[in-house]
Amino acid sequence: MFCNHYVKPEFAQLAHIIRRSFSREYQDLKLNTGLSHPDCHDLFDNHPDQAIYLPRFLEIQFIGWLIDPAWHNEQKLLYDFYKFPDFTELSDRHGHHLINYQHHGELFILM
Ligand SMILES: [Zn+2]
Repeated sequence: MFCNHYVKPEFAQLAHIIRRSFSREYQDLKLNTGLSHPDCHDLFDNHPDQAIYLPRFLEIQFIGWLIDPAWHNEQKLLYDFYKFPDFTELSDRHGHHLINYQHHGELFILM
């Protein structure tokens, strides 16, 4: 889910965009979950300075914002060195065309 590369099932980890520590209510939400390489998962969870280089970083952040804008506000503090686009403006301009939920459902498959 973070790098957009194939994950061999035996190495796949179930990853969450919005962590349990922020809110338990999103842990079973399909849009909040995906399969990840262990290394990519670790980068996203623990190394903000490197996570910004994950190919799907911005899309992941946008999905998180769609799920809960309050989560994204916390991310902005964590990534204070990174300039996010204005997701509100992006969403107004493109609506939900930016994230195709059907396509997304194929990428984000629960184990
Ligand atoms: Zn990966």
